[in-house]
Amino acid sequence: MITLYDTTLRDGTQREGLSLSVEDKLRIVSRLDDLGVRYIEGGFPASNPKDEEFFAAVRDLDLKTAVVSAFGSTCRADHRAEEDAGLRALLDTGCEALCIVGKAWDLHVTETLRTSLEENLRMVRDSVAYLKSQGRTVFFDAEHFFDGYARNAEYATAVCREAAEAGADAVVLCDTNGGALPGAVRSVVAAMVESLPGVVFGIHAHNDAACAVANSLVAVDAGCTHVQGTVNGYGERAGNADLVSIVPALVLKMGDDCITRDQLKLLTEVSHFVAETANLSPDPHQPYVGTSAFAHKGGLHASAVSRLPAAYEHVDPTAVGNLARVVVSELAGRASLVMKAKELGVDLAGQPDIASKVIEDIKQLEYRGYSFETADASLEILLKRELGTYEPFFRLESFRCLMEKREDGRVMTEATIKIWVDDERYIATAEGNGPVNALDRAIRLAIGRFYPDLEAIELSDFKVRVLDEKKGTAAVTRVLIESSDGEKSWGTVGVSENIIEASWQALVDSVTYGLSHPERPND
Ligand SMILES: [Zn+2]
Repeated sequence: MITLYDTTLRDGTQREGLSLSVEDKLRIVSRLDDLGVRYIEGGFPASNPKDEEFFAAVRDLDLKTAVVSAFGSTCRADHRAEEDAGLRALLDTGCEALCIVGKAWDLHVTETLRTSLEENLRMVRDSVAYLKSQGRTVFFDAEHFFDGYARNAEYATAVCREAAEAGADAVVLCDTNGGALPGAVRSVVAAMVESLPGVVFGIHAHNDAACAVANSLVAVDAGCTHVQGTVNGYGERAGNADLVSIVPALVLKMGDDCITRDQLKLLTEVSHFVAETANLSPDPHQPYVGTSAFAHKGGLHASAVSRLPAAYEHVDPTAVGNLARVVVSELAGRASLVMKAKELGVDLAGQPDIASKVIEDIKQLEYRGYSFETADASLEILLKRELGTYEPFFRLESFRCLMEKREDGRVMTEATIKIWVDDERYIATAEGNGPVNALDRAIRLAIGRFYPDLEAIELSDFKVRVLDEKKGTAAVTRVLIESSDGEKSWGTVGVSENIIEASWQALVDSVTYGLSHPERPND
């Protein structure tokens, strides 16, 4: 069985423009755990203080099967492993699994590291042995392995042998520059399996030659049993190997049980969730999970596809949680909707009229730019409106935002809101560093005394995406707000041509959801 190792949160965040907050990372960890990914690399603690915060917080997550791992490198040249600050930082994360990278290409040892080939072998051996002596699962990433092997196979093999003999649980062959082709990967992996029998080999491929997925799959064919990659192939330059393509190939085409068939049905959802959390648009043409991945070209009758799907589809779209385009418009969002309704105690499956009305409304909203992938709280509020159980906590008469740019460079925003609770009218003015912050404070000022639960609610993240950029300033803006009450977090969405209006919608949903789900100690 193949061991899946996800590095979206570490190697994936090397992608230009991709950044994840600690809260984002924790939510992604939970989704990957649901999907059944065995190891989740959380970050590089020695290089990034945000990662330390993540490793402290992730210990509190209740994971089903996933093990969180931390990434680092071997000890430095001429330093003892026991005294190396980087290895210490790895151990201090408390992670059960650790992954360290070391040089496998002689050129990099002498020219980048500027040390001797012998000393590099010592660093690999001592670092792996030291981490093993501390009772951890240790993976060794052999950096630039394929390029190194092409130039000095004997040395690249020796590096892997040192790591394995020191106790590494897997020796991961890395195509760091991403230029390897499948034929070479297959024969090199086969040669390694033959020359180091009994060693567990892994593959870590980059996509610079558009072969990362292919290279991962041929490496498995040739004997690798550990596969590293990222969700949606996010990563530096052209990206990493895309687990979203690798996993269904392993399960559906190669007969591997790395995750269950039920878990595989979460693939589309997880892929889109990670994209939205990274504030990137999901790629409609992404294999397996794209909205067009099973869209049949015009002229091909839906009835022909449904009569003989295997003649037109390489896998059953429902196996990966996707839907054939011909039915997408009918069923989009239905599964999560039915689930959400169930949480509210409503059996939507038994109320087809309401269900189809809600689906129709969601379709309209999505057409206008709404996205409910990460805005589960807004979905719940929408559903309550349709069911007639929505109870607003306040009614807006009006709000006004003023922005002031000051001589010293500071920008201040002032918001005034006029708001009704029952038959009472309240007016409040507050300042903030931006319109959302000012409006948020004004709401609290106006109605905080009626709703003490408001105090616990915090806006933890705020994402803005401009949709349809071709329209310039008339483009539609989507605002996603993440909120938290210290115990749970929830997402809300707003869409408008006006960014402040979009923010307001998301803000009102956030407050409404938070107040209707108060955190009570003994609940
Ligand atoms: Zn990499």
